[in-house]
Amino acid sequence: MLSTMQDVPLTVTRILTHGMTIHGKSQVTTWTGEPEPHRRSFADIGARASQLAHALRDELGVDGDQRVATLMWNNAEHVEAYLAIPSMGAVLHTLNLRLPAEQLVWIVNHADDKVVLANGSLLPLLAPLLPHLPSVEHVVVSGPGDRSLLDGLAPTVHEYEELIAGRPTSYAWPELDERSAAAMCYTSGTTGDPKGVVYSHRSIYLHSMQVNMAESMGLTDKDTTLVVVPQFHVNAWGLPHATFMTGVNMLMPDRFLQPAPLAEMIERERPTHAAAVPTIWQGLLAEVTAKPRDLSSMASVTIGGAACPPSLMEAYDKLGVRLCHAWGMTETSPLGTMSNPPAGLTDEQEWPYRITQGRFPAGVEARLVGPGGEHLPWDGESAGELEVRGAWIAGAYYGGADGEDLRPEDKFSEDGWLKTGDVGVISADGYLTLTDRAKDVIKSGGEWISSVDLENALMAHPDVAEAAVVAVPDEKWGERPLATVVLKEGATADYAALRTFLAQSVAKWQLPERWTIIPAVPKTSVGKFDKKVIRRQYADGELDITQL
Ligand code: ADP
Repeated sequence: MLSTMQDVPLTVTRILTHGMTIHGKSQVTTWTGEPEPHRRSFADIGARASQLAHALRDELGVDGDQRVATLMWNNAEHVEAYLAIPSMGAVLHTLNLRLPAEQLVWIVNHADDKVVLANGSLLPLLAPLLPHLPSVEHVVVSGPGDRSLLDGLAPTVHEYEELIAGRPTSYAWPELDERSAAAMCYTSGTTGDPKGVVYSHRSIYLHSMQVNMAESMGLTDKDTTLVVVPQFHVNAWGLPHATFMTGVNMLMPDRFLQPAPLAEMIERERPTHAAAVPTIWQGLLAEVTAKPRDLSSMASVTIGGAACPPSLMEAYDKLGVRLCHAWGMTETSPLGTMSNPPAGLTDEQEWPYRITQGRFPAGVEARLVGPGGEHLPWDGESAGELEVRGAWIAGAYYGGADGEDLRPEDKFSEDGWLKTGDVGVISADGYLTLTDRAKDVIKSGGEWISSVDLENALMAHPDVAEAAVVAVPDEKWGERPLATVVLKEGATADYAALRTFLAQSVAKWQLPERWTIIPAVPKTSVGKFDKKVIRRQYADGELDITQL
């Protein structure tokens, strides 16, 4: 028997029309570096999204599910693209502006992008790529920047504001299949070619609802969220779509992502929430320690993309800012877990829950798989690889315009679950604690050492700004940990002192023998520790290693 309910497709179009009418007064504020930021209402964003869709269809000939790429910072125009492109039936493809040129070229060609919307300040990056992007017919430029960089290059160049000006502020949005492609994002491809994850209208809709639930970010139209996580990093963790559902105001930093302007925008605009990877919060902490600022408007901060050191959480608690740990991946839209503790606990009792990666929401099923493929119990002790499935979890990668979708064995189980590559334990009440990425765990004499545990312990030392631990080859043990440490300015701790400090919280056999001080931990394109680079620097003999 089928239900008697209406079958209304869950689409980005519905998110757009809802947000621009019911929450028309909510605002997207974009930092400009000028005395006043730029403000635009959701109603205006909606009207301009219609104008953009008309321009793309009528002027540039975007048709069907053609891909429209964005090479943009977080700003109001990027939000317009987020809403217009999927709603007209085309596919939004966000480009990670920090990827190496060859990878960007590979990705644009693989996705077969027809149009690139670019911020003017990013033209120095885009211009040299264009001769290698045969599918790109049009470049649409918004914001300040030198347009002459595009002179003589093949595609037609348009000015965003001129292109949309005077076009109708409403659009006869097509009724789309909720399972059709709405947006795509490529994983950064630490091994092999980058892999394209294609989100559907349905997955974005359901993921947005989850983001908005009180047990997740739980924001309303009384809130303002500072969206530091780039719109090219897993759809800014779903925030632009989720906020349009509930009228949450957005504060967009554009290209002003350094600690000083971030501190200034928090103090002046008083957002109630923010989202970013741990390195951003480390940088901001150093900034406000040197030059105190009032960050206390931020009642909650979503921190994820990499493990949040507990010491960082404690430091922000003291500033009146509560960090809430979240785990996710490009393949999971990305919300996979959030570490809101269960009800009825004191601060002290909440702490062990807060430092986990968090618990799974109703839409995400999880299991732990041991080395022999056996399923492990949720007992907080049995460690295995995390596998997940759900309505906003990828079941395959994009195979290219003429190719079949890809389901590599190392990423998808036979019964269709996503193999995350993350190793951890799950408690009986469903809280996930990740011990490491499978590829980062240190295999020493048949035992496993968690690089994350060592890093967290080291980063709790008052002299340590950042610490990254990687496995390096060892004749006797197979692998041993190498500790790379960034000291705070003026700090004096030596290796022996750091090792003694570490010995207070980790087993003796796990203590690293190899140490090096580095000026900064190398970061990936989305600001995570780039352990591949550290391992290579070690192998090349670039690092100055001290053996204790
Ligand atoms: P990339 O693999 O290029 O970093 P993603 O942004 O998809 O691309 O990264 C997903 C990975 O980031 C996860 O598989 C996990 O290893 C790591 N990660 C994300 N959130 C957390 C977290 N809260 N704690 C630890 N690791 C995390």
